[in-house]
Amino acid sequence: MRLRIRASNLYDILYPRRCPVCDRPVKPAGKLICAECEGIPERIEGATCRKCGKMLPDGTAVYCSDCAGISHVYRQGAAVFTYRSISGAVFRFKYSGRREYAEYFAREMAEVLMYRIKNDFRVRPDMLVPVPLHTSRMRGRGYNQSALMAAGISKVTGIPLREDVLTRTENTAPMKNMSVSDRQNNLKNAFHACPFDVKLKTIIVIDDIYTTGATIDACAAELYRAGAAFVFFMTLAIGTQGETDKNA
Ligand SMILES: [Zn+2]
Ligand SMILES: [Zn+2]
Repeated sequence: MRLRIRASNLYDILYPRRCPVCDRPVKPAGKLICAECEGIPERIEGATCRKCGKMLPDGTAVYCSDCAGISHVYRQGAAVFTYRSISGAVFRFKYSGRREYAEYFAREMAEVLMYRIKNDFRVRPDMLVPVPLHTSRMRGRGYNQSALMAAGISKVTGIPLREDVLTRTENTAPMKNMSVSDRQNNLKNAFHACPFDVKLKTIIVIDDIYTTGATIDACAAELYRAGAAFVFFMTLAIGTQGETDKNA
């Protein structure tokens, strides 16, 4: 036992946890984010779109301009940060092996999710379902960033994590710079849900970024097809109105 504690201390010294904002070893050590960096990512607050949860510059509107012109498959969703304020962290999390950021992201997502469930969604969720990665991409990256966050959220909230009910059957092309309809076509038949597992269940889909909603809608469509009762989503970051030229 003592040896194991020493080994983990040594691990912390050799590989100190890095801060999701500045990417340097967290100061003070033992925290998930530097005290100095904590206020830098811009939180979603004030008036938000009743559908996707984007911030509304005009506090009198109910829906953002993106949702006003589209009918989403999912029921409702929310995010923690604006995409532009945390895009560097998300990039390193996905492509530079910074798995350790997941703990900070999950803690923040869990807090916002619990607030939204109580005040906006008004449901009792049965499970958290991460947006799956195709096995070939999973092999390349070594982990599914959404599943890491979902596992962390599950730990904090007690909502069961189900990684097995939704699978990615097609390795879709990257959607950066694709239009809304191209994204929808690209994702057609990309997911498969198991009817036995999701029947009549209230599900929160977990992902890193929400841009146009094409990915969440494709997951929701398949979950509904398999018999789910309600599909909501929770993402770490969300774009601002009219901003569709990012990863979905
Ligand atoms: Zn920092
Ligand atoms: Zn919206």
